[in-house]
Amino acid sequence: MESIVDQAKHTAINRKFRIFDRPKDASGNYQRITEYYGKNVFHFSDAKGIPSSVRIELESATSSGGKISKEHADVVAKAVTEWAISRGATHFCHWFQPLTGATAEKHDAFLNLDENEKPIETLSATHLMQGEPDASSFPNGGSRSTFEARGYTAWDLTSPMFLKEGSNGTTLCIPTAFVSYLGEALDIKTPLLRSVSKLDKEATRFMNLVGEKDVKRVHVTCGAEQEYFLIDKGFYYARPDLVMTGRTLFGAPSSRNQQLDDHYFGAISERVLNFMEELDLELHKLGIPAKTRHNEVAPGQFELAQIFRDANISADNNQLVMATIKDIAARHDFEALLHEKPFAGINGSGKHINWSMATDSGVNLLEPGKELHHNARFLAVVAIVIEAVNRHAKALRMSVASQGNDHRLGANEAPPSIISVFTGSTIESVLSAIKDGKEFTPEGEITLDIGANQLADLEKDNTDRNRTSPFAFTGNKFEFRAVGSTQSIGLPLSILNAAVSDVLEEANNSIESELSSGKTIDKVLMDLVQKFMKSSWNVVFNGDGYSQDWVEEAEKRGLPNLRTTADALPVLRDTKATSFLIRQGVYKETELETRYNVLIERYNTLREIEFVALTDIINRQILPSTLSFKREVAAVIKDQKELKIDSRVEMDLYKKVNMTLETIYEDTRNLTNSLESLTDNDGDRATKIANELMPLSEKIANNCAVLEGLLPSRLWSIPTYFEMLFIR
Ligand code: ADP
Ligand code: MG
Repeated sequence: MESIVDQAKHTAINRKFRIFDRPKDASGNYQRITEYYGKNVFHFSDAKGIPSSVRIELESATSSGGKISKEHADVVAKAVTEWAISRGATHFCHWFQPLTGATAEKHDAFLNLDENEKPIETLSATHLMQGEPDASSFPNGGSRSTFEARGYTAWDLTSPMFLKEGSNGTTLCIPTAFVSYLGEALDIKTPLLRSVSKLDKEATRFMNLVGEKDVKRVHVTCGAEQEYFLIDKGFYYARPDLVMTGRTLFGAPSSRNQQLDDHYFGAISERVLNFMEELDLELHKLGIPAKTRHNEVAPGQFELAQIFRDANISADNNQLVMATIKDIAARHDFEALLHEKPFAGINGSGKHINWSMATDSGVNLLEPGKELHHNARFLAVVAIVIEAVNRHAKALRMSVASQGNDHRLGANEAPPSIISVFTGSTIESVLSAIKDGKEFTPEGEITLDIGANQLADLEKDNTDRNRTSPFAFTGNKFEFRAVGSTQSIGLPLSILNAAVSDVLEEANNSIESELSSGKTIDKVLMDLVQKFMKSSWNVVFNGDGYSQDWVEEAEKRGLPNLRTTADALPVLRDTKATSFLIRQGVYKETELETRYNVLIERYNTLREIEFVALTDIINRQILPSTLSFKREVAAVIKDQKELKIDSRVEMDLYKKVNMTLETIYEDTRNLTNSLESLTDNDGDRATKIANELMPLSEKIANNCAVLEGLLPSRLWSIPTYFEMLFIR
């Protein structure tokens, strides 16, 4: 009988590629993207059944984050029901983001019975505006006692409703926040919304202070780049570790991994391209502006980037992007791996959050202007962000902590766990001059004149920009690069927004009082830049973030280095490090505690699952395979002994295999014992897991890879990296 690996291999090689129907118009021509873009999104602006008075209220509520009256909600509910049903929907759901980082939905049919028990289809205003999932089933970090397990979902009308099309049915999804009856945020969205409106307030005030009196609103803009792996579904199901934990817990490197760097931006294979085309189609129908698709550094790794939008919508979009990647991959008989480190020794996946702020008339606050005055404003904003990162580095580090990301951060493929800011050399020299008080009167110094010539430098800085930095200025935006690929971007965004609004608020207060003492705005801004550059110069680093030198240098500079999730999550309980979150009204104290409890428990549980899965594979697959091999080699040795032939090679091999197996066995026993003797305290548990059990399990994993390299593939019942990464 064929082994499961051989079966998977044959299936993968002989797969029929999926051809899907691209939308066509009446005359049989392919539709343009613009014809189907946003087709599955409910737009207030052109929806049938919404009178213009209601539309105006909706639009203003959407842009200001406000609420609408119940009567108007009723009008929307009727309109959206008609629209959804006309598009084939049978159900609706409140779509929300509990603290697991995934999304949750509870479906209800549009079906109702009238007083004569006749079936009708309705969605009431109340059902649109509010839902009641059983909150006790979602992680709540012990924030509510079980008898008061009531939480509710509340319609977020700033993020449009959309249709989720399955093969056999369609569901209307209503983006919602998820809060307890006491108003405590039980989700990722609520604090993000708070942070966006707080930053809006401070940034608008800032713009007004610097003379842009017409600015009424500042949006936080965000565009996420998503990395992922694709492997054939057959291999996926033949690797219990992948199914249970999202990553391969061990694997011998194939002879060609990514040394040749030939995968990055390489030609996309036909099967993958088919997948990407369908993915883009579905995302575009959902009104998600997927823009860029390409091969990534590692074999089997890809990236999708979308055009930036309002942070809250971008965060919702990214959740849908991840879900859609998984769904469409399945249609093409792929499994999409979103884990940060699916393959040991091969580049993992991250997510870059591109971030900036823009006024209601579209002026990007991080766009260097042509005029000096704008440059002063631009430099002030850059300095404020740098100061924010410097002051709140620990919280930012915490916001990207996860068991998966621990494999990347600081592992010479992703930014280190030390938070620093890359500015590029042009801005660095400008900021450095200002810091050192080299005369920077508006008329004087050339350092301030980032005019045409130096702008060219700025562009150069960008094109060969430093990939090793966790937080980089990239021309007209910052890029937070330490985010994990599976992560919801809502948490890091909320922390970043709060950090910036914290410093911005302080800056606004000082600008206000300086202006009233008669100084010019340029002078006030330059003083501000100088002050912040003096206080945060340590966090500016344009060198190689992967080097050991930097780790040492950063320590000398006094920058925090929270290496693991177990080190980083306690920041949530560090009142000094988190007081700004409370001050800015983005998190409440109890919500921070909730998040600590949920995240640390999650870390422990996920790691424990990994340890058990590893032990399982060893006992049920690796051990039996190795014993068979030992038996084969022993038989040869015995035969040769009878024939009086020397068995040096066989003996050597036998001993090597045996020794490795013994070590694995011993270490696995220790791992199991340590696992059983872990204390109940989640924090201590996490520390022990991160500092002792993880290194031990990595040692076991390395030895499993050694065995994989020694045993014949005929006896190895687990798909290898070569098979998974190259057969497609
Ligand atoms: P690269 O791919 O080299 O990182 P791109 O210019 O393609 O750079 O941008 C990457 C991401 O940054 C995209 O998602 C893009 O939409 C986003 N982006 C560009 N400008 C802004 C901005 N002002 N604010 C937020 N995101 C932005
Ligand atoms: Mg980028």
